[in-house]
This record gives sequence, C-alpha cells and structure tokens, in this order.
Amino acid sequence: MDILPLHSWLNTDNKPVVIAGPCSAETPEQVNEVAKGIAQIPQVKIMRAGIWKPRTRPGSFEGMGSIALPWLVSAAKENGLLSACEIATPKHVEEALKAGVDVLWIGARTTVNPFSVQDIADALQGVDVPVMVKNPVAPDLQLWIGAIERVASAGVNKIIAVHRGFQTIAKTKYRNNPLWEIPIELKTMFPGLPLFIDPSHIAGKSELVADVAQKALDMDMDGLMIETHPNPANALSDARQQITPAELTSLISNLELRHANSTNLEFQSRLEELRSIMDSIDEEMLRVIARRMAIAEKIGEYKYQNHVTILQMKRWKEILETRTAIGNSVGLEEEFVKALMQLIHKESIHVQTELVRKQQE
Ligand code: PEP
Ligand code: MN
Repeated sequence: MDILPLHSWLNTDNKPVVIAGPCSAETPEQVNEVAKGIAQIPQVKIMRAGIWKPRTRPGSFEGMGSIALPWLVSAAKENGLLSACEIATPKHVEEALKAGVDVLWIGARTTVNPFSVQDIADALQGVDVPVMVKNPVAPDLQLWIGAIERVASAGVNKIIAVHRGFQTIAKTKYRNNPLWEIPIELKTMFPGLPLFIDPSHIAGKSELVADVAQKALDMDMDGLMIETHPNPANALSDARQQITPAELTSLISNLELRHANSTNLEFQSRLEELRSIMDSIDEEMLRVIARRMAIAEKIGEYKYQNHVTILQMKRWKEILETRTAIGNSVGLEEEFVKALMQLIHKESIHVQTELVRKQQE
C-alpha cells in the first residue's frame, strides 16, 4: 500500500495530534461554539462532526444531514482547522466533497461491509482527499485491513486507521472492548500507516476517556479522536461519552507524552504495550474461569438432584489426563497444568459443596 506519512499532509508539530468535535453537528451555534473552543488547543488540527448518523434503531436522531455540511466546513475554516465527517454511501462522498469537507471517514458500521466500502472507494477514485478508516464493529483485523486496501486501491494515499474498540461477548468496563492486540498487530504489519485511537467510542463514558487516551499514547499511537460537545448532557447522540472543550484542554495537558527517540522510553512504551496485552488476556482468562465455575455449579445441582457424590475419581483422572495432554500440545509444562487444574478443580468442588450446603439449609 502506498500511504503517505502523516506529517506530509497534516501539521504534526504539536503532539499528540488530536481530532475533536461533536459526535453530531446539531445546530450552527453548537458547531461554532465547539470550533472556537477546540481551536484554542494547539494539538487539535481537525474538527469532526457527524452529519449522517448510523443509529442502531430507527427513530433516534439520525443526524442533520446535508444542511449541516456548510456549518461544519465554515466553522472549521474560520478557526483554522480542517473539517471531517463520516461518509457511508457514494452520495455522502459526493455531497461532502461538494461542500468542501477536508477529511472523510468510514465508520465502524460501514467497514464491516466490503460492498459498501467498495462503493465508497469507487466514489473516491481520482479524488485527492484524506480518508480515515475506523475498525469494523467486529474484532476482525482482516476486515479492517481489507477496507484500508480498498480505499488505497482507489488511489487515496492519505489514510489514517482509527481504532474505536470492538463489540465482543466478553463485557468490559468500556462501551467497546479495546482488544489492544488488534491495533498493535495492524501497526506491526503496516508501520507506515498512521494509527489513531478514538477513546470516546472505546470508553463510552466521559470519565474513562482520559485513561484510554493515556493508554493510546503509552502505546505510541499517532493521534487521538475525541468527541467534544459544549453541553454533553444535552447532546443528541453519544451524550454519555462526550466532554466539553474545557475538559479536553485539561485532558490533553494532563497526558504524559513518551518520546520514541529515547531507547529507555522506547522500552517503556513497548513494555506498556505488552502489559496491556497481558491485562486483556488475564481479564479474558478470569472470565473464562468464571464461566467454568458456573458450569460446575450446574453440574453440582444435577448431581444433588440425582443423589450422586460430588467427587468422582474416574472423572477427575480423566480431566487431569486430557488437560495435561492439551497443555503439552500448546507447550505448557505438565507440572504447571496439573497444579493449575488441581486449583481449579478444588474450587469447583468448593462451589458444588457450597451449593449442597445451601440446598440442605
Ligand atoms: C462516530 O464517530 O460518531 C461514530 C459513529 O463512530 P463509530 O463508527 O466508531 O461507531
Ligand atoms: Mn459518536
């Protein structure tokens, strides 16, 4: 893929590079107020605002549509910022370009669909406009790469990948599971591709945005996209996760920047990366164990109803044998797997005896 470095088309003098603006453009006044507020922050280079909103259910606010395009374009321009909006169809591309929007982005609900992405790519053929590609809603790196490739194949060479988290069965404290290993893998595969983080859509709650933003910097990501609204509580979309321009100012000034040119700090940020991956693996592991315990409890109930003893040696022997074999096949020491299974088994027995005790009370 032929992708230009960020600094060749965007002023990246003030780190981190930030894209800010409301989830949705609502009124000319709201758009102007945000533009004025965020333009005071030297790191903010691009103003975002949703014009057409992809909503889960019909009937909620679906964006102001094309009438809001000139609000965004002029507010951004008057405040020395580039403008950006989401496009989901060739018609959106055409209207946004006609209105003079500087940067376009493909949203998470569009990236999942290669037909839609291809339609957009076809509409971008021969147009020199930067395009941001958000990750698909589903944790599928190939789908994300595919969308980026389709856009690049249309001749677009100013591309930014935006990580906004994933919908997963495993629930986390965030609205969208960050699964940091996926953007890190993208970065490893395409080191020249600028990669931004959208802490707002990952966090889903305004009070968690700063932590996610810091994590993004610790992992040496290239920039941030943060939803900013003059009055978040009354926002027509994503009210819970937006912050005010004043809050954005303090969030950015509290961020700790790591400098990639010091070997020691490079080590630090790599360490952070690995620790983050480890954190999410541990969380996943504990959730899996909790699921196993819930099954153990169910089994305990059946055993109790059918007057069967809790501990059955034959079954336990079989568990030990099969699990150590699996461990062996994935490179885990037999002694370790045995000790781990003993610990888990002991807890399962405990869960089942507790259940029997309660039933007999
Ligand atoms: C947005 O940026 O407002 C948006 C709808 O994001 P996503 O596509 O990541 O859900
Ligand atoms: Mn939003």
